[in-house]
Amino acid sequence: MKKVKGKIIAVSAPSGAGKTTIVKQILKLFPEIIFSVSATTRTKRPGEINGKDYFFISEEEFKEKIKNNEFIEWERFYDYYYGTYKYFIDEITEQNKTIILEVDVKGALQLKKIYPSAKLIFIYPPSSQELIKRLKNRKTETIVDFNKRVKRAKMELSLKDKFDYFVENNDLEKAILETKKIIKNILTEIN
Ligand code: 5GP
Repeated sequence: MKKVKGKIIAVSAPSGAGKTTIVKQILKLFPEIIFSVSATTRTKRPGEINGKDYFFISEEEFKEKIKNNEFIEWERFYDYYYGTYKYFIDEITEQNKTIILEVDVKGALQLKKIYPSAKLIFIYPPSSQELIKRLKNRKTETIVDFNKRVKRAKMELSLKDKFDYFVENNDLEKAILETKKIIKNILTEIN
């Protein structure tokens, strides 16, 4: 367990629940919050920037970093690895700044184990059917990846109750407003 000066906020949601869009808006609304750029071995999607959205690295590099204990948490899913850099969290929180992470549900729960003061926000779709529809519309995955994401989304939804805050993403504008309110509260709380 680690006690930190700055605040840690993790946003999780099943794939396709709209969390990337919400986190991007939050970063615009709160420019003082730093985004934790994860490492991943998956390929870049159109529009993604290396070093901004993720650090896109090879599986070999990723495994090397696991060995060197560079990740605070990491996960392997859909045949790809995703990990949060330890130095990133330590550096930002040491400066008394707030860091926001966009991680999967298990990653968020792992983070809370290490940093009990971390606040976990769960963004969820109005229904499983809606989630499947959104994933289909996104068209960024192959059919195999799509099926894996649907299966995983159901598992993630089942862990929802372990989170601190909940936002239903039925209407994007409302979900952003709701998340904004939660973050404002977190920022004004004393650690
Ligand atoms: P995507 O491939 O859609 O960008 O991300 C897939 C999943 O990986 C999402 O749920 C995303 O939040 C999660 N993810 C991204 N970075 C990390 C990380 O560093 N750690 C963990 N545990 N999950 C991550």
